[in-house]
Amino acid sequence: MDKYNNLINGKPVPPVSGKYFDNINPADRNDVAGMFPKSGEADINLAVKSAKDAFQIWSEMPPPQRGELIFKVGDLLLVNQERLAKVIVREMGKTMPESMGDIKSSADAAYFMAGEGRRMYGQTTYSALEKRWALTKRVPVGVCGLITAWNAPMAIITWKLFPALICGNTVVLKPSEDTPLTAHLFGELVKEAGIPDGVVNIVYGTGVETGKAIVKNSDISMVSFTGSTNVGKMIASECGRQLKGCSLELGGKNGLIVMNDANLDAASKAVASGAFSTAGQRCASTSRVFVHEDVYDAYLEKLLAETKKMKIGQGANPDTNVCPIINKRQYDSILSYIEGAKKNGATLLYGGNALTGGEFSGGNFIGPTIFSDVDLKSKLAQEEIFGPVLAVFKITDLQDAIEQINAVEYGLTASIFTANVDIAMHALDKLEAGCCYINAPTFGSEPHMPFGGVKKSGIGTREPGTQALDVFSEWKTIYIDYSGVSQNSQFKTK
Ligand code: NDP
Repeated sequence: MDKYNNLINGKPVPPVSGKYFDNINPADRNDVAGMFPKSGEADINLAVKSAKDAFQIWSEMPPPQRGELIFKVGDLLLVNQERLAKVIVREMGKTMPESMGDIKSSADAAYFMAGEGRRMYGQTTYSALEKRWALTKRVPVGVCGLITAWNAPMAIITWKLFPALICGNTVVLKPSEDTPLTAHLFGELVKEAGIPDGVVNIVYGTGVETGKAIVKNSDISMVSFTGSTNVGKMIASECGRQLKGCSLELGGKNGLIVMNDANLDAASKAVASGAFSTAGQRCASTSRVFVHEDVYDAYLEKLLAETKKMKIGQGANPDTNVCPIINKRQYDSILSYIEGAKKNGATLLYGGNALTGGEFSGGNFIGPTIFSDVDLKSKLAQEEIFGPVLAVFKITDLQDAIEQINAVEYGLTASIFTANVDIAMHALDKLEAGCCYINAPTFGSEPHMPFGGVKKSGIGTREPGTQALDVFSEWKTIYIDYSGVSQNSQFKTK
């Protein structure tokens, strides 16, 4: 069995505790993809010291040069795309096309952020005083703590790490304990690209121990976190106590509206893939669909037909559309939502059970599940399930749909299918979501566009896109005076 170590100052470093955990394949719990360190505060302290030591050399390197190194990581991601994707299939469970896409979007993020190294624009303007310039410049924040989720194991890391690096920060990364091997291989590519030792440090372990130690460490200047809203609240509260920055990419309870003039074929395909691909384990997965009463029966028929076509199985199987559930805890949680909905009087239209035996034995498999007659106040309608479970609601008009879709505490993504531009525009005005789609499934975003949620789905930060620079840098305002006298703008009275 391969045993891996933390990456600190460019070297493999065993955990201070001497303890390791198993990296389990969700499609076959007997398959262990390596043992990884159970790290704690002492390991985080070592990694933070390494990141602090590397800060000077990295932050003083001109951003275009940093960009060239990030660009090389992008190239290496593509050269190794298939090998890395196979690792994602094994440790996270999703399908090969989804895993290849995870690596491709990471390379895209590298190329986009590498280009930012040649922009990083500030402002130059006139002062109110004579012979004086006023300007702004982005500066790094210091050592960034990155804590990531497992569902897009490479993309979530890279969409944070590349903007952090281009801004001149060094990082301590704690990947999810469910997908450590992807992070380990990423660390190898960072080294191969020539990014100096200590700029990227990777420490493995659990959230409650390793993750907490990152947030607690006062030498970490900001924390960037992708994960559940509950953990996000704890992180925000500790960062607030220490008055350090945090960026939170949190959960969603995403809804899609099907109006009576919608293309029902496209809308049914969009919901089947939006709700059930990656087994619903995406922050942007569709978990609620609101269908106009005029087309409700016709739409349901098409949605059920599309859902029946979806093949559940191992991610490595080329026919699979619906992959296994990441771990036993999440599997039990999804099944308890399904049982709760049944007890609560919702009508089970499709699925609703775990799949066992044959090709499913030893894995965490739950088939696509659809409920109707769901109480709007129930857990099924309100809480993020993070599994292949969809609730269908009947609506009378757009106003009704918007009120229902907005009646949750989350606001990550939302979509509407309609042929009417007025309806589409009105929906865009009123939908409470950080990312909206017209005639498209609720999927994630593209690396050059901001992505994030409103309400309890985030705190207003946006990591991908140029907006990521605002998360990972601070503004320095500069005045340059060549008047030869001591001028002070506060004493200017006319
Ligand atoms: P968790 O919140 O359980 O974990 C996320 C990360 O935080 C993991 O690395 C975890 O460690 C760590 N962690 C757990 N507890 C703590 C703690 N007390 N202090 C510090 N770190 C901690 O989420 P999941 O990994 O289950 O991911 C699923 C969630 O992520 C969903 O809610 C989903 O919506 C959200 N998500 C949001 C996205 C977005 O862009 N908005 C994108 C993708 C996912 P450990 O290794 O122990 O799990």
